[in-house]
Amino acid sequence: MFYEWKPYVSAAERRRKAAQQMAKLKKKGHPVAPVVIDGRVIAKTFWGKSWCENLEGYGDYENRLPRGRTYARNGSVVDLQIDKGAVAAWVSGSELYKVEVKIATLPKARWSTLVNDCAGEIDSLVELLQGQFSQGVMQRMCKQDAGLFPAPKEISFDCSCPDWAAMCKHVAAVLYGVGARLDERPELLFALRAVSEQDLITNAGKGLRTAAKKPKRTKLLDATDLSDVFGIDLAEAAPRKTAQKRAGTKKSATRVSSVRKKRSAGKR
Ligand SMILES: [Zn+2]
Repeated sequence: MFYEWKPYVSAAERRRKAAQQMAKLKKKGHPVAPVVIDGRVIAKTFWGKSWCENLEGYGDYENRLPRGRTYARNGSVVDLQIDKGAVAAWVSGSELYKVEVKIATLPKARWSTLVNDCAGEIDSLVELLQGQFSQGVMQRMCKQDAGLFPAPKEISFDCSCPDWAAMCKHVAAVLYGVGARLDERPELLFALRAVSEQDLITNAGKGLRTAAKKPKRTKLLDATDLSDVFGIDLAEAAPRKTAQKRAGTKKSATRVSSVRKKRSAGKR
């Protein structure tokens, strides 16, 4: 192989270029979501920590993962998206690299065993997402090859950098980035593995799942998914007419913008 000479690029310059690229993506409608880690600890909650500990618990990754920690901490993961069975990310290294991690969806039998084993233990979605449950449930969720977290054989990855064959630091950074993301949005773990967290809630099938709540969640997920796929911001399309409606009533006049206030004042 020929040695390719590359000019030195400072960290600040790399970051500036990455920011530019992300701004471009954003303009095209891609919902850019960088991994932002405050302090040295990558993940602080049950879900985030368990994700990282799970990966670190396998000999396969032992030597590879540490290379990604600094990258994850210093903001190199400039975009990370979690979807059903897949994580897509951009990582800023000597260049901007595209990382794709495929995670197998959870086998149905494994999920129903997990659900049965946790039956009656988790009372609400809030408790579940906050990781507030018994030691027994915790161990069950985290059990290698039987819990919610993926084993190396369920994970495959690809990076656009030259040395992706073994796990490169960009992939490692993305895997840690997922841990950090689960701190903020633990429900994404369930989406990633294509199972419904509602199944774990006690009495979920007996009418406690309110009709109002369920479609709202689905809608939110769909919008995110579609935004990823088509690069359009679906969220902005929805709430429009309510403001116009309100403007007509006296009570809500204080709530509308000053422009509208002036207009309606002129009419009176
Ligand atoms: Zn790489």
